[in-house]
Amino acid sequence: MSFTQNKIRQSTSQGLKVLKPEDNFKFACHDGLDCFTQCCQNINIFLMPYDIIQLKNGLQISSEKFLQQYTITLMGKNGLPAIILKMKDDDEKSCPFVTAQGCRVYDSRPWACRIYPLQPETTKITEKAGRQYYSIMDVPFCLGFQENKVSIVREWIDGQNIPIYIEMEELFKKITMNEFLSDKKIENKKIQEMYFMACYDIDRFRRFIFESSFLKQFEIEKNEIEKMKYDDTALYKFAMKWIEFGLLGQQGLKLKPEVMAAKKKLT
Ligand code: SF4
Ligand code: SF4
Repeated sequence: MSFTQNKIRQSTSQGLKVLKPEDNFKFACHDGLDCFTQCCQNINIFLMPYDIIQLKNGLQISSEKFLQQYTITLMGKNGLPAIILKMKDDDEKSCPFVTAQGCRVYDSRPWACRIYPLQPETTKITEKAGRQYYSIMDVPFCLGFQENKVSIVREWIDGQNIPIYIEMEELFKKITMNEFLSDKKIENKKIQEMYFMACYDIDRFRRFIFESSFLKQFEIEKNEIEKMKYDDTALYKFAMKWIEFGLLGQQGLKLKPEVMAAKKKLT
């Protein structure tokens, strides 16, 4: 159910078939198939910040606990951390959430598991033109492709609740795909730690901004501050703006005039 599965390869034997949103494909996954849950083992699933919010809320645990119990942190080439789901230490290297009955976090499962068997085929040009293309993953052992259920790509995407994941991912990509970082490596441990907290450890980030003088530095609408107290998505959006401001020098946030003046005095 994940596009990063080791056993998965892209369909190249007959050329890559690109699907548009109005195209259809044949696939169904259910517990009557011999392959049921086979795809939930020995896989690398990268977790995006919004995946972590959904998973920790689905499991009703804090982001700290989720990260500590279920994830591994990798360091990217640009010096920024990325998160993968930690597989179990059993012979199959099973996903920690798979059971004989299927996925126990089904409603909050990660984007990668939701979108299967599709995968986006986007380039900068198609993105700019607002066009979406997909391909079907080639997973030899997946019997779902032999089922007769026909789905339309657009309906599949909507039915799996993918649009909100795409919307949240776009905010994250504005940072990770930013040209500024393309030839840089962040070495500063403090910046790496702040980035990790704001992107992935949202409950700790909430304490960080509400239990310090942090918010007093910026001009932020009262409503936005109130919302961030309880709404993880609102807090995540703010976190992305803060990283853009602090790491990329962009102007999504505005310092208060007195803070600006104090900073000027120091320089
Ligand atoms: S049909 Fe495919 S996605 Fe469903 S359980 Fe089998 S291998 Fe996994
Ligand atoms: S999160 Fe659920 S769907 Fe995804 S690999 Fe784990 S058990 Fe399978």
